[in-house]
Amino acid sequence: MTHTRNTPASGADEFDDRTAPPGPPSERDLDQRSLRARTEAMDVMGIGSGQYRVHSESGNDYLVDVNDRRCTCPDHAIRGVRCKHLRRVAMEITAGSVAPPSYVASTCASCGDFALVPPGASEPHLCERHRLAVGDRVRDRETGDVIVVVAVSPRRADEVTIPGRNVTVAGYETNAAYPASDPVVAAVYPSVRVTREGARPESLRAYSFPLSRLERVRERDGARR
Ligand SMILES: [Zn+2]
Ligand SMILES: [Zn+2]
Repeated sequence: MTHTRNTPASGADEFDDRTAPPGPPSERDLDQRSLRARTEAMDVMGIGSGQYRVHSESGNDYLVDVNDRRCTCPDHAIRGVRCKHLRRVAMEITAGSVAPPSYVASTCASCGDFALVPPGASEPHLCERHRLAVGDRVRDRETGDVIVVVAVSPRRADEVTIPGRNVTVAGYETNAAYPASDPVVAAVYPSVRVTREGARPESLRAYSFPLSRLERVRERDGARR
């Protein structure tokens, strides 16, 4: 996600508002705030339970709480106005570029990093980088095959035994490079056989992988991180 960098000619930032006279904001102030909320470069990151960290163009970090409608910037804290950070967070939630305020903080079961998940989400909780869902197309990093996820298990790769083999998913030779604590993901090869009766899947057999062996195939390659 890229942010627009076209800023007002004044190079406006928080300091303009700090030097403004006290009192109720004028119409012009409000217009300026919504303009800045839309056009300034700000990085918004959800940290859970309605809280967002906003890194502003001026280099400052502010904490926005959308449930309490509060921001730690001087514009909000001192002048009590609905600042550009609150507005920007609301815009990004509406646009779907950051997680909704109901999401809660958790830990990724694959890498241990911060993860935001819906309240009551079933295990495993996964970060943005490792999040996989049933139906996702993924690339097997070992073979390059593109396969389809049919299940994301909360069980670890060293707890799940491969059917018919006396070895766990973690113990399987081609999985040696991936963490034994990775959640196990089941996937199928989506090849189709066309017969007189119609198209049928070649095989419904699901194979088990440590999660980080699989890489999500993006809809638009390279569009996102
Ligand atoms: Zn603010
Ligand atoms: Zn992760």
